Amino acid sequence: MGLQEVARLFVIPSGLRFFLCLYYIDTMKHAKGAGMGCLLLAAILLPFSFVYGEPPAAREYRLRLFNTHTLERLNVVYRRDSVYDFEALAKLDLFLRDHRVGRVKHYAPQLFDLLTELVAKVGRPEAEIHVICGYRTEGTNKQLRSRSSAVAKNSLHREAEAIDIRLPGVLTSRLRDIALALRRGGVGYYAISNFLHLDVGRVRRW
Ligand SMILES: [Zn+2]
Repeated sequence: MGLQEVARLFVIPSGLRFFLCLYYIDTMKHAKGAGMGCLLLAAILLPFSFVYGEPPAAREYRLRLFNTHTLERLNVVYRRDSVYDFEALAKLDLFLRDHRVGRVKHYAPQLFDLLTELVAKVGRPEAEIHVICGYRTEGTNKQLRSRSSAVAKNSLHREAEAIDIRLPGVLTSRLRDIALALRRGGVGYYAISNFLHLDVGRVRRW
């Protein structure tokens, strides 16, 4: 247990603090209650010294990615608490570009949240996710479709809302089950090629 956690144990909830304040004001109206009043004031102010002395660290959302085609790696914090880091998102967009034609499209950050939650739920929050495919232009999608029945005509890869991944050391079927339980969008399992398609479109599976 770190200092922050210990400090939190002493923090009085704001609602209770409000009533303590009222009681303090009431007590101080009577001179004989001054001693009690001082104690109450200490109780009210004590949490502030903990809370404001050292603000709690923001929760970091980090992704570690490896692109199996370009062999590029990215290790980036793209979100702190609820605030997205636009510079980091741009790095992710570039990483997930259609490398065949060098085109970049802005990705839905919800997909990144889905990835961080997935690796956390699988018990491997530090794991490097292998990316088989990110964004696909219309042309690339058509080209891949002519060669594989696994490529959909209206694929969400064209909208930068889908990604194909695998996680070394974790069975892709297990990854699929966890992704399905999250119910954040489409989940496609490709057993032979051993990868999982994830998107943030409608909840569906194949
Ligand atoms: Zn896909």
